[in-house]
Amino acid sequence: QAKVAGKNCYRFYSRTMDQAVERRMRMEHDLRGAWGRGELSLSYQPIFRTRDRVLVGAEALLRWNHPDDGAISPAVFIEVAEQSGLIESIGPEVMRAACQEAARWRTPDGAGEPPFVSVNVSPRQLRSTDLVQQIGTALHEAALSPERLHVELTETAVISDEANATALLARLRETGVRVWLDDFGTGYSSLSHLRRVQVDGLKIDRSFITDLLRDPDDLALTSAIIAMAHSMGITVVAEGVEKQGQYDLLRERDCDLVQGYWLGHPLTAAEFAKLAG
Ligand code: C2E
Ligand code: MG
Ligand code: MG
Ligand code: MG
Repeated sequence: QAKVAGKNCYRFYSRTMDQAVERRMRMEHDLRGAWGRGELSLSYQPIFRTRDRVLVGAEALLRWNHPDDGAISPAVFIEVAEQSGLIESIGPEVMRAACQEAARWRTPDGAGEPPFVSVNVSPRQLRSTDLVQQIGTALHEAALSPERLHVELTETAVISDEANATALLARLRETGVRVWLDDFGTGYSSLSHLRRVQVDGLKIDRSFITDLLRDPDDLALTSAIIAMAHSMGITVVAEGVEKQGQYDLLRERDCDLVQGYWLGHPLTAAEFAKLAG
């Protein structure tokens, strides 16, 4: 009897496991070729200069419109793309499309700099040997000047492979592309690494901004990050600005750039192009 119960238990456990694995495998299967079928697209979330709220750039954010399941969050499918290796084919397409799109943007009055485009690059792409060349090709094909491309890397990706990342970031920056640390403040030992890893900017993680008005610790940390970055000549973006109060506080604390629902939601390429003139 015990043997049977044990067997049933095992089968129950195994079936639950199977479901999770199956779901993942189905997503991986569906994701393969999704770009080619036109299911993947980029949305563009505006980024503003804090001081005068002038539009200065946009972050390209990947969207997946699944034929059966509808919109799937990038927080979910990027993970699958990363672990399955599919990101190695999707990543270059994202880079190419974002550069092509940005090449069409102008400033509304024809004066000043057209907006930059900021593209997320995952840890696995960072380990790919030809990332610098791949980015060079995307820029060349789009005839986009390198200064108008920003590359966002998560703090943890850079720190977990510091020796490789440091060399790669140096090569990237030599080409004129700007390098940003994404989700800054959520990783481990942020400050000491900044001395060695040379970046142009950092994006303060949304988790610091959410309670900025209520939590004095978050305000203290945010102010300290801004001051420290500025002393090193590094630009700061705050992400996840959802309220005017947060924006006012960030302006008062001299945060360079802001991004968030209060200022603008992610837009379709056509919508953003209209905004960018
Ligand atoms: P992220 O790079 O930190 O992007 C910011 C996320 O915050 C985006 O979510 C954006 O829509 C959201 N957001 C912006 N403003 C606000 C706000 O005011 N409030 C709130 N609650 N959220 C806000 P999204 O588009 O769902 O992307 C999630 C993550 O997926 C991104 O985080 C990024 O890590 C990853 N991702 C997106 N597109 C790509 C891509 O093309 N390549 C790679 N490797 N990763 C990507
Ligand atoms: Mg990002
Ligand atoms: Mg971020
Ligand atoms: Mg984030």
